[in-house]
Amino acid sequence: MTKFKVAVDAGHGGFGVTPGKRTPDGEYEWDFNNKVAKACVSKLKANGVEVIRTDDPTGKTDVGLTSRTNKANNAKADVMISFHHNANKGIWGTHTGTETFTYIGNWPDAERLAREVQNRIVKAYGLRDRGLKKANFAIVRQSEMPAILVEGGYMDSTIDIKKLRNDAVLEAAGIAAAEGILAYLGTSSSKGASKPTSKPAQESPAPSSSTPAKGYVNGSAGQRVESIYKGKEGLNFYTKAYFDSKYKAGTFGYGMGWEIVKRVKVGSAYMFEVKNSKGVKYYVTASAEYVKVEGKAKASSTSSKGSSSTANIKVGSTVTLQDHASKYQTGEKIPSSVKGKKYTVMQIKNVNQSRSKKAYLLKEIMSWVLEQDVFPKTTAKKSSGGGSAIVPYPGHLIKIGSRGKDVQRIQHAVGVATDGIFGKATKSAVMAYQRRHGLGVDGIVGKETWDKMF
Ligand SMILES: [Zn+2]
Repeated sequence: MTKFKVAVDAGHGGFGVTPGKRTPDGEYEWDFNNKVAKACVSKLKANGVEVIRTDDPTGKTDVGLTSRTNKANNAKADVMISFHHNANKGIWGTHTGTETFTYIGNWPDAERLAREVQNRIVKAYGLRDRGLKKANFAIVRQSEMPAILVEGGYMDSTIDIKKLRNDAVLEAAGIAAAEGILAYLGTSSSKGASKPTSKPAQESPAPSSSTPAKGYVNGSAGQRVESIYKGKEGLNFYTKAYFDSKYKAGTFGYGMGWEIVKRVKVGSAYMFEVKNSKGVKYYVTASAEYVKVEGKAKASSTSSKGSSSTANIKVGSTVTLQDHASKYQTGEKIPSSVKGKKYTVMQIKNVNQSRSKKAYLLKEIMSWVLEQDVFPKTTAKKSSGGGSAIVPYPGHLIKIGSRGKDVQRIQHAVGVATDGIFGKATKSAVMAYQRRHGLGVDGIVGKETWDKMF
């Protein structure tokens, strides 16, 4: 049985260390948040879940938002939850209710988590259900795992404050949130050819040309493995050779595929070690029920019309989301705050929608956009090409104290604010990146780390 890890966060800090964030009578938001967080932690621990607190549990400091998400990311938490209590204008009123936020755009896992939690905490608070919301909050944007932010009730509401001043209600809310998380984790087990295994994978002793084990397809370097699974949720791909949602890096849909590096044995099952067009390695199932293997096809599909301006976009490419874009491929309105910015293509799928034949999943906003709405900027390094990165290594180490354009590039790659100043937050994000990519973890960008990033 896999041990799950949950990052629990009480918003802000106590003792007045965070400006504002208090009731009209001067009670601190963190104190309410902390009571809910503590109950949530106890309930999770009682169910065998490992918990990381990402705020200062003494309340004496207000930990920065990036430090909070870095802590959750570095710990490879399965889920992150941040507890808050809302304020309207800071003067008493009768606005009321409980709401739960996920990041803007589509992230089905986070939304499912939000639903499980919201349904339960609404009952625990006994307040109006304001529903599920989306926002560009750092806590839900910078976390690499499904993350939600709960606003339990209004601190400046004469209705809600009665609940917030009742420790039994806050405790019930924390327990309810934990139960929602447990329900989510209980149903989030990975789709794969075998049950999750905690044993390290071993390479198949059999040469790749031998008869495949029953139920698994064979394949070797240079061939392409492609999903034949039509389920809407797609197949998982993992950062390690385990069928374990802990290592889930994303999903890929029917007809989408990868270049095979080799086949590996995982417990009694098989996976393919694959790489994307940037050479980043992942693991996918080798179950004949879910995938097929094809000859010498390339890792990513190419457009039949070579003249299309987006024909060169590959997984790993950087694209700009055009200002004229109006809706995501999935139909929601695209907020103007995300337009005109550069994003990394994480997945590509074929569609037949409006003027587009392809859609791209953009990593930083975790949303599918149509081909017609993006503009290609750079092309990712070809997997079959030479060893040089698209942006050449500047030839010197980039570390704490470094400044400038290269620092901004690094900050963009690791997902922190691109102010061009290499500080502590950038260092810990670089370390997390190095850890995720199996590089030496020193928080310094040398040639090896640079070439992995670009
Ligand atoms: Zn707050």
